[in-house]
Amino acid sequence: PLVLGIETSCDETGIGIVTGHTLLANTIASSMEEHARFGGVVPEVASRAHLEAMTPTVEAALAQAGLRFSDIDAIAVTAGPGLAGALLVGVAAAKAYALGLGIPLYGVNHLAAHVAVDQLEHGPLPKPCIALLVSGGHSSLLLVPDVAKDVISLGSTVDDAAGEAFDKVARVLGLPFPGGPYIDKAATSGSGTAVAFPRGKMDDGTLDFSFSGLKTAVARWVEARESAGERIHVPDVAASFQEAVVDVLTRKALQACRKYGVGDLLIGGGVAANSRLRALAQERCDAAGVRLRVPRPGLCTDNGAMVAALGSDLVAAGVTPSSLEIPADSSMPITTVHV
Ligand code: ATP
Ligand code: MG
Ligand code: FE
Repeated sequence: PLVLGIETSCDETGIGIVTGHTLLANTIASSMEEHARFGGVVPEVASRAHLEAMTPTVEAALAQAGLRFSDIDAIAVTAGPGLAGALLVGVAAAKAYALGLGIPLYGVNHLAAHVAVDQLEHGPLPKPCIALLVSGGHSSLLLVPDVAKDVISLGSTVDDAAGEAFDKVARVLGLPFPGGPYIDKAATSGSGTAVAFPRGKMDDGTLDFSFSGLKTAVARWVEARESAGERIHVPDVAASFQEAVVDVLTRKALQACRKYGVGDLLIGGGVAANSRLRALAQERCDAAGVRLRVPRPGLCTDNGAMVAALGSDLVAAGVTPSSLEIPADSSMPITTVHV
């Protein structure tokens, strides 16, 4: 069956079309340029941009796949979590397409979709696998017996998400928003051992994370140097901060694999695009005999293909479609795979 996925939880209007785990189209419109000067996504601006981008982005996806509306068998949409007004635009559009085309609707969890998307690149997920989900709003370790049915949270951040820490530290370093990709780039010419920044909750025996102490430590370090009239070497600070984040993420991800006896680790979410995270995870997985799966960077950040991928799993699993009355749920818990 051909599944069209709609993603509007943040600033990206993403449309994907898949059949099984084969990706046929992935089109995206982003309002990030409109938000960048505010240093964060402005919800009202994002909602309006989704409204304007929806029809052209859907039509572009159909054209990319060489399909017509009448070919589509099911609609999947991000029903949460995310910005309420932004989600609402996608959910309303999805209901309209499902009703107009007389096809089933599947409301899915954005975070589970960040996990499911890897199958478009690497095939069916091993059951179970451990997933490290690291994005702009979330950082969690998950036990995933079956992404279409059951996602179990093993631990999560007690304060900032990893992506949020990247974005806040980038601001301290005078880099543009969203800062993750800029820190990644700056760090390539710096040293990860230049400054010993703290690793929050590193060996506390839990699978939780904490990044706000690290963010504050970087801000204090920079402030102290600047008020002493010293020039800071941005690449070194970026690389040292990044090293602290990915050291904790990879160490805890492998602790989770060991604790639950699972030999497959998946990393998903926007921060999974980070080059150092990908490299260190591979190194540590190799040493531990764990198989690692990370989608290509373009599938890590928000997109419509991920929503279509999860929708496709739900269709295959014979899950009952969603009602046309489903709400957008801005705080949908990660354990709710679909509604
Ligand atoms: P959520 O998925 O929690 O709702 P979101 O959808 O806003 O949040 P994503 O699009 O999944 O987030 O990820 C965006 C985050 O990923 C931003 O914080 C961004 O800085 C970060 N990010 C993107 N690329 C990189 C990179 N190369 N290195 C580090 N962080 C990155
Ligand atoms: Mg985004
Ligand atoms: Fe996301």
